[in-house]
Amino acid sequence: HDAKEQHDSFRRFSGNTAQDSADRLTLLGDLRRGLTDASQFTLHYQPKIALSDGSLAGVEALARWHHPTRGPVPPGQFVPVLETTSLIHPFTERVLTIALEQARAWLDAGHRVPVAVNVSTRSLLDETFPGRLAALLESTGVPGELLCIEITEHTVLSDPTTTIDALRCIRALGVKTSIDDFGTGYSSLTYLKLLPVDELKIDRSFVADMVADSSSHALVASAVDLAHNLNLTVVAEGVEDVPTAAALVGLGCDTAQGYHFARPVPAADLESRFFRRQPA
Ligand code: C2E
Ligand code: MG
Ligand code: MG
Ligand code: MG
Repeated sequence: HDAKEQHDSFRRFSGNTAQDSADRLTLLGDLRRGLTDASQFTLHYQPKIALSDGSLAGVEALARWHHPTRGPVPPGQFVPVLETTSLIHPFTERVLTIALEQARAWLDAGHRVPVAVNVSTRSLLDETFPGRLAALLESTGVPGELLCIEITEHTVLSDPTTTIDALRCIRALGVKTSIDDFGTGYSSLTYLKLLPVDELKIDRSFVADMVADSSSHALVASAVDLAHNLNLTVVAEGVEDVPTAAALVGLGCDTAQGYHFARPVPAADLESRFFRRQPA
């Protein structure tokens, strides 16, 4: 089904400005309608695996859009378009609501599963964001420490001061914070020291060829050490095979995600594969 997800549901933007803006408007119209339809947006969950013992350390929630006629549209195609308008706000609200309701349902079934949610620059930097987050935690009754907000280095670089303020407010709710795709954004060591974050996720591009390529290996090794020296948990994303997992264990990396362990799956599939039956 991955090939289907890779399939171009929407024509790639052509570079022809008039055609591009027509395509973008069609896409935005479909997104606007889709956001009012509870069935079109769902979340898949990808396990984060503790490398020390192979246990489930948490999950990352990844948005899935089922377009009524075009079928599945990958987030890489629609999230960047949502980010150009204020439609990103109801989308972020929807994703957080589904993720927290899922965490609540798991809690009620006796499973404490930390859930990570990706939050776009525009949503994170909106001054109402921390208040909305507090309200959602309150209404779902999920303890803050079971939620992690993933932001990218690009968000930090776009507006470091506002990002740091927002992250402080989020952490004051007990919520964890994470820097996603680390290594792709040229963020300086100064920012890393100042950022109120709990976790660093090493980008897939470095992890993918760390076994074959010595400079990627050196970069991953440095990122693991840097994270640990700053007292951050470190996650390697995009682990696709045994040699890569073994290399990460060798470097003392805490947690890993990737197709080698599990693809993002619907909640029910995650439960049947990863949850032990509760003792009677
Ligand atoms: P990300 O947050 O870095 O998420 C990891 C992406 O890598 C996911 O793609 C995941 O399916 C994919 N992946 C995981 N393991 C492997 C692997 O071993 N090999 C390979 N080749 N890929 C792997 P996905 O679900 O298509 O999401 C792409 C991006 O879209 C995410 O990157 C994130 O930036 C964004 N995104 C997804 N859901 C949301 C959301 O709810 N809100 C926002 N703002 N962005 C989202
Ligand atoms: Mg992420
Ligand atoms: Mg990532
Ligand atoms: Mg990524």
